[in-house]
Amino acid sequence: MADKGAMNGLDGRQRQALAEALARLKREALDGVRRASGEMSTEDAELFRDLGLTGDGALAEAEFERDVAGAGQVRAALLAIVAAERRLAQGDYGLCEDCGESIGFARLEAQPSASRCVRCQDVAERRAGPARFAG
Ligand SMILES: [Zn+2]
Repeated sequence: MADKGAMNGLDGRQRQALAEALARLKREALDGVRRASGEMSTEDAELFRDLGLTGDGALAEAEFERDVAGAGQVRAALLAIVAAERRLAQGDYGLCEDCGESIGFARLEAQPSASRCVRCQDVAERRAGPARFAG
């Protein structure tokens, strides 16, 4: 069988575990967004709509727009999680977006939303400088 999972070095059970981890992280991120107060710009609303976050019926659109207010850090984490879920659905989850190599289960387990292998992440962070989301 031509299983796409073989490409990224993950077996079905690992992918399932990571999918569950992503879902859990997304819930936590949404909770964090809910706790944050502030205004969500129209641009943000469109961004999240584009990402399909409201498309699965998990959240009513109006509720979602109210929830995703402020909290840039949480929002960034949420975006990474949603992007990872999309890759999971497309079958290219677990592959480094820069070099195309397998990211590896150990790294994904520690950070399910990782989109780069350790080496490329290191390069990217150096390129970006000391600025980080956390802080
Ligand atoms: Zn890489």
